[in-house]
Amino acid sequence: MGTSSKRKTPAPRSRAARSEKWVYLFAEGNARRKDLLGGKGANLAEMTRMGLPVPPGFIVSTRACNAYLAAGGFPPGMWAQVERALAKVERQAGRRLGEPRDPLLVSCRSGARFSMPGMMDTVLNIGLNDVAVAGLAKLTGDERFANDAYRRLVQMFGTVVLGLPDEPFEAVLARHRKAARVENDADLAAATLGEITEEFKAIVKSQARRAFPEDPREQLRLATEAVFRSWNGKRAIDYRNAAGIAHDLGTAVNIQAMVFGNLGDRSGTGVLTTRNVTTGEPRLEGDWLTNAQGEDVVAGTRATKPIATLKREMPRIHAELARHCATLEKHFRDVQDIEFTIERDKLWMLQTRDAKRTAQAAVRFAVDLAAKRLITRAEAVERVSPDHVDAFLHPQFDAKDKAAAKKRGDLLATGLNVSPGAASGILAFDADTAERWGAREKKAVIMVRPETKPDDVHGMLAARGILTSRGGRTSHAALVARQFGKPAVVGVSAMDVDAANRRFTIGTRVFREGDAVSVDGTTGELFAGELKTVVPEFSDPYLARLLGWADGFRRLGVWANADYPRDAVRARGYGAQGIGLCRTEHMFFETERLPLVQEMILADTDEARTGPLAKLLPFQREDFVGLFRAMDGLPVTIRLIDPPLHEFLPSYDELAHDVTEIETRLSMAAGKDPLGLAGTLATKKRLLEAVNALREANPMLGLRGVRLGIHLPQLVRMQVRAIIEAACRCRREGIRVHPKIMIPLIAHNNELKVERAILDEEAKAVMKEQGVRVKYQFGTMIEIPRAALTAGDIARQAEFFSFGTNDLTQTTFGISRDDAETGFLREYLEKRILPDNPFATLDQAGVGKLMEMGVRLGREVRPDLEVGICGEHGGDPATIAFCHRIGLDYVSCSPYRVPVARLAAAQAALAMDAGRD
Ligand code: PEP
Ligand code: MG
Repeated sequence: MGTSSKRKTPAPRSRAARSEKWVYLFAEGNARRKDLLGGKGANLAEMTRMGLPVPPGFIVSTRACNAYLAAGGFPPGMWAQVERALAKVERQAGRRLGEPRDPLLVSCRSGARFSMPGMMDTVLNIGLNDVAVAGLAKLTGDERFANDAYRRLVQMFGTVVLGLPDEPFEAVLARHRKAARVENDADLAAATLGEITEEFKAIVKSQARRAFPEDPREQLRLATEAVFRSWNGKRAIDYRNAAGIAHDLGTAVNIQAMVFGNLGDRSGTGVLTTRNVTTGEPRLEGDWLTNAQGEDVVAGTRATKPIATLKREMPRIHAELARHCATLEKHFRDVQDIEFTIERDKLWMLQTRDAKRTAQAAVRFAVDLAAKRLITRAEAVERVSPDHVDAFLHPQFDAKDKAAAKKRGDLLATGLNVSPGAASGILAFDADTAERWGAREKKAVIMVRPETKPDDVHGMLAARGILTSRGGRTSHAALVARQFGKPAVVGVSAMDVDAANRRFTIGTRVFREGDAVSVDGTTGELFAGELKTVVPEFSDPYLARLLGWADGFRRLGVWANADYPRDAVRARGYGAQGIGLCRTEHMFFETERLPLVQEMILADTDEARTGPLAKLLPFQREDFVGLFRAMDGLPVTIRLIDPPLHEFLPSYDELAHDVTEIETRLSMAAGKDPLGLAGTLATKKRLLEAVNALREANPMLGLRGVRLGIHLPQLVRMQVRAIIEAACRCRREGIRVHPKIMIPLIAHNNELKVERAILDEEAKAVMKEQGVRVKYQFGTMIEIPRAALTAGDIARQAEFFSFGTNDLTQTTFGISRDDAETGFLREYLEKRILPDNPFATLDQAGVGKLMEMGVRLGREVRPDLEVGICGEHGGDPATIAFCHRIGLDYVSCSPYRVPVARLAAAQAALAMDAGRD
């Protein structure tokens, strides 16, 4: 924390600060006070109030953490409150901290407003010392257990509280395991654990230059400080940056009586979710271990058992747990992620929180909970985020490619499918390498580890996919991957990872760092090499239902930008209600058409243009027939040609280079020309001259859009003819056509007048020839500020507006998108001069104001003016909410964003109706 923030925080020495309540018993809190008590503490309090079996405890508030971090010490009065709360916990537990015969042990855990799994510190078994350990051994009749608890405390104290490295402690353990010829710490004898604790204390003394504190209150005080400080640890800061969590929230500290899952075979511990968080299926899902502590389950260091086995091994406990799960899900009205411990046949609930989930699970939960009437349909729609919907359209491995890989023997192994999606990339064996290759060098990386730790998150974020040999569905790797939507396969036990030598082996095959693999997080499969990906069919029945509900709430139409019939078909499949933009020029780039377009551009006279235009006409007509067929009954907005002509011609620099080269070769050939280069030279020279004549200093502000249409009226006529001929033909086939012809880049209503006259004349002529009448609409894009400012005049000509916010952003900011996004815009964003990239999410204060004005002025003149948006922003949820507020009729976006836009439009309507916008 900087000195400035120290100064800003009021020194908590005033009387008001002294009397502040910093500490809350579980019975005093509730789930609504997460800001103050942190998520974990608030929910422990809630479970306590619900009468569930929660070990007694209390919470030191997030405000206390912030006061501590600002002042560098506990705020006045806080510790006295801790002492008082502790006394109450001692009474409830019937044990006292530091009492030699029957000592109370407590845990000291972090718990912020938003869950940050494993990113901050925890100290367990506080209260043990040389005397209490003997008391605990006697009381439990298990000296090994007591000694193990004590050595864990000293180790955690050294590493977490005093900040020592873990290696010296692990080295001691490894040495004793070797000497005792055992593989697990769990197999070390009681006396050995006693010796280990002594060695640990010696490490603390020599490396931290202070003795391990025997006084339990001193232990608790130092542990509390360590947890507060861990809010500002590197791991925590990195995580908050990635997850978008504010840095000034602070963490609460939960101090709670310990219960032990490692007191023999009638004890155990586990984590579970009340439904499957990968697929959304409604059944308990999780991992547990007999005779273990909580950390053993999540660390992935021991092979866990699926929760279903608890039913066989401890049926009574399983039934009680299932009952609590149902109660909690109903109470919190959401799927829960629960930690529990069984201490000698007694079940304790240690944590509950809303479960992190994959996109698939999020959608199914919302639909299932609404079906059970735990939540309303509107809540279901609000619970799924646009990113969740987006994930349904993410690539999967191509089925054929996958089958071929299997046939080749490249399916290496199968693990747990904990986070869906497909990812291929090169192997990186640690987080730093994954970050360097993935984030900085922009390579596709698969990060592979035996298991992941909170320190690995930066690498996981930079990787395309995650792969581990150990761990279960609730392991750290699984949790983080799910949260950030990274495909992940964990617990691939067939894979032997040798991280030190940067390789893994599966059977006889060895893979080294840099080798390519493919990870299928949907199925849990691991393949050698890179597989092809495809966009999946959009067929999830739960998503279809949810989006159906969303459609009932939204008032904005959702249309698509599509240039080809195949895009239109896809968009319609995704729920598009029309085409909001067909960029006709895209069709000109196809191989057989481009030479005709070039011929048309290079022609000197109108007559010379007639030939190539006549040849282009049938192509365009076929394009439009395809679009009308695909969109039978729905509007199709066709924009006339927009880009500057030079985009259709070879580059000036390339031509100039070719001309010089041929001239040089000819001059060196001393009058001989066996290859007939002279002819090529003449053609290229002519082309060069033409390209030179069309060169503009600022082509994006030059001869394009409506200006081009006015300059080349025959081109407009050809396009209008193609549209109307296609419409007439489709009408004859019984297709309901609704063409909307749109003029780009206008700045003045006179431009529209000119265009409209040509267009209406041509359309009339075609209809007469065809003997068919089609109704078409005439409209314009609004993508120049002047058009927005004079929208009233423009609405006299135009029957509809579509905001071209790509150009409108460029022209409002005076920024060229192409230059900015690869250049200075990044600096602007890094320096926070602009809060967001204005080409991705609409600048509501500036560009948005022009839009608002455009809508108002336009509708003053033409009350039924239809208004939409077709810039890239049309698929951005924040922009969609804005479009809803200013009364647009529809948004038009890429086909792949259509489902996202349907949800976002519904959420915008629900938020506005609830007065939340
Ligand atoms: C726009 O400018 O927003 C638009 C849709 O047109 P284009 O991106 O083709 O210039
Ligand atoms: Mg544009």
